[in-house]
Amino acid sequence: ARDSLRHAQKLEAVGKLTGGVAHDFNNVLQIISGNIQLLQFLLSGNKEVEKRLQNMLGAVDRGSKLSSQLLAFARRQPLQPAVVNLYAVIQNMDDLLHRALGASIQLQVKACEGLWNTFVDPSQLENVILNLVINARDAMPEGGTLLIKLENTELKNKFANLPQEVAAGDYVLLCICDTGTGMSPEVLEQVFEPFFTTKPAGEGTGLGLSMAYGFVKQSGGHIQIESEVGKGTLIRIYLPRSLQEAMPRPALKTEPAAGGR
Ligand code: ADP
Repeated sequence: ARDSLRHAQKLEAVGKLTGGVAHDFNNVLQIISGNIQLLQFLLSGNKEVEKRLQNMLGAVDRGSKLSSQLLAFARRQPLQPAVVNLYAVIQNMDDLLHRALGASIQLQVKACEGLWNTFVDPSQLENVILNLVINARDAMPEGGTLLIKLENTELKNKFANLPQEVAAGDYVLLCICDTGTGMSPEVLEQVFEPFFTTKPAGEGTGLGLSMAYGFVKQSGGHIQIESEVGKGTLIRIYLPRSLQEAMPRPALKTEPAAGGR
């Protein structure tokens, strides 16, 4: 419990710090991008110059994606939980997930009969799932299979490997399982740290899993990762069951630009 308090405080501090920087940085990038586009217009016709300007625009674009991710992290909205069925959430994301994964990765979705409802913020959950799916994709550069599985689970107090702060009771278990590179024990130990990334500069923010961790904890759930180098990674997310009926939901906005890369 002390560990997770330290973790929460660290997330808080990091959030405050990055918010301001990311915002100003975005303004700087806007100016650069505007000027590049003007130069593209003024200098059109010279193939070499056009190529260089296009490269610059690409770099600026990556920079602004990064800073909008940082902003999203810093300005985490308060949770607006609702009674939701996770299977409906996943189905709602079907298009988005296929686009994120590309043609070389097969997506399988399985849900048990009579899946229980949960009480979570559906749009923040979508963001978390998208981040996890993008991580899985990045771990499968040569293709593979991504399995998303949903089950009803009853956690007992003595449930193996679960920390004490997880209350016994009914949970919906969301598994995200990939056949990718996996992680070494050293990497696995640090994945929830904000800004920990093994990806090249400009590609990873190291915020995906720390955001997932924060979201799941705040939702009264638990997240657990199992991974083996060369085999793949299994992420288990336990979210508390709701005994209420799910309301028919309006179509959710899914904005890959805000949460994804
Ligand atoms: P980012 O993806 O920006 O690096 P994350 O916090 O989402 O930030 O992930 C941190 C690190 O954890 C990644 O850089 C990667 O090394 C590792 N990781 C996360 N998910 C997976 C996965 N599914 N398979 C292998 N490694 C992973």
